[in-house]
Amino acid sequence: MRISELLKSTAYNTEVVVKGWVRTKRGNKNVAFIALNDGSCVANIQIVVDLQKIAEEQLKSVTTGACIAVTGTLVESLGAGQGVEVQATSIEVYGTADPETYPLQKKGHSLEFLRDIAYLRPRTNTFGAVLRIRHAMAYAIHKFFNDKGFYYFHTPLITASDCEGAGAMFQVTTMDMNNLPKGEDGAIDYNQDFFGKPCSLTVSGQLEGELGALSLGQIYTFGPTFRAENSNTPRHLAEFWMIEPEMAFYELEDNMNLAEEFLKYLIRYALENCREDLEFMNKMWDKELIERLNFVLENDFVRLDYTEGIRILQESGRKFEFPCHWGCDLQSEHERYLVEEHFKRPVILINYPKEIKAFYMKQNEDGKTVRAMDVLFPKIGEIIGGSEREADYGKLRARIEELQIPEKDMWWYLDTRRWGSAPHSGFGLGFERLLLFVTGMGNIRDVIPFPRTPKNAEF
Ligand code: ATP
Ligand code: MG
Repeated sequence: MRISELLKSTAYNTEVVVKGWVRTKRGNKNVAFIALNDGSCVANIQIVVDLQKIAEEQLKSVTTGACIAVTGTLVESLGAGQGVEVQATSIEVYGTADPETYPLQKKGHSLEFLRDIAYLRPRTNTFGAVLRIRHAMAYAIHKFFNDKGFYYFHTPLITASDCEGAGAMFQVTTMDMNNLPKGEDGAIDYNQDFFGKPCSLTVSGQLEGELGALSLGQIYTFGPTFRAENSNTPRHLAEFWMIEPEMAFYELEDNMNLAEEFLKYLIRYALENCREDLEFMNKMWDKELIERLNFVLENDFVRLDYTEGIRILQESGRKFEFPCHWGCDLQSEHERYLVEEHFKRPVILINYPKEIKAFYMKQNEDGKTVRAMDVLFPKIGEIIGGSEREADYGKLRARIEELQIPEKDMWWYLDTRRWGSAPHSGFGLGFERLLLFVTGMGNIRDVIPFPRTPKNAEF
């Protein structure tokens, strides 16, 4: 039985079998206590070993980190803080863990230390909790969209377009780096590469997602995304997961409503379904976590024009590292000032200058701004980026030309505006940014099992 179920069971005096990894073993001449964890919950189950029934010799290899199977009787526990325990009748050792070398011998390792042994850290209480919450959030995302009639749409990870500008890209090739085929002009001959042209890993599924929305009506993507972000920040990964809903007939207002409803749904889902893990994270890492989650649930997000946001920042009297003016891209310090100090609530900032946003965003009448929206959260800054898309063929084409984006990359995207174009909107939620918020962790490397960052791809 899984330990999470066993801990809730009242089938006292029945025989059970539990399998898991030893967290600790202690005791005296007569009795040993083993704390066993199988990853199903943060709590361990206590195994009581009567040393008159099971020889101490046999327990020698039952050390921290070892994997064992215990057969025994489920009994009501007399110890505080636990309902049941297992009185062992036999123990089988599946895998030993030499105490001299097992890295997780002691408790209380730093997150930095655990990052260096990322392949083992799911064995800790903290990463157990984070990864269970990660699973629950992935499930809730699919449930939210499925219940609303959205379709899960799979966009390609390998792409030939490099024009979205969302971030630097990783090239995909099968060519021999030490012997690149060259044309007569000396340039690399991509005709000889696998796809016959330069290709990369995608930075976003949006452009293809729009094709889904303009046929199935409402779709979402949920998959890995790659950005060669050569900046070591606690909020950027080179490989991260993104959720990108895209909806036909949605205008900016509808897009904002969906984003707010979606984030609140996910937070409520976590509070209702991940209670123990959240309480653990609250106790160990972030004393205000549950309070902050409830706070976001209970308050409307502020909706604010970029222009107004800049005015507030300029009148704040605050000395920012990067001073801001109309036209500047907001830094995390600006976003957090608005959210944490000025409004003390999540903020949806809209109508950004077109120069700092992507070419596909719908242009406003003023000729200066576009119908973009960024959702800004406490502790995180930007958690969602989205917009209403430019649906007009002529305007989109003009913008593409203005930015000198090669038409050979964009013809298929432009075609969506040639036949049966429609108003439509969408956004991208960084899955790990959401998890930073929901788990209370401070570094994005600690909410994904195997983080990919500059100079780090070993395991
Ligand atoms: P930022 O300014 O923080 O780099 P962005 O403007 O590049 O974000 P978008 O292109 O709008 O982000 O991507 C949508 C969402 O994806 C962001 O709101 C964020 O939640 C997430 N995101 C973007 N880049 C990364 C990254 N390198 N690692 C993890 N999540 C990311
Ligand atoms: Mg970025």
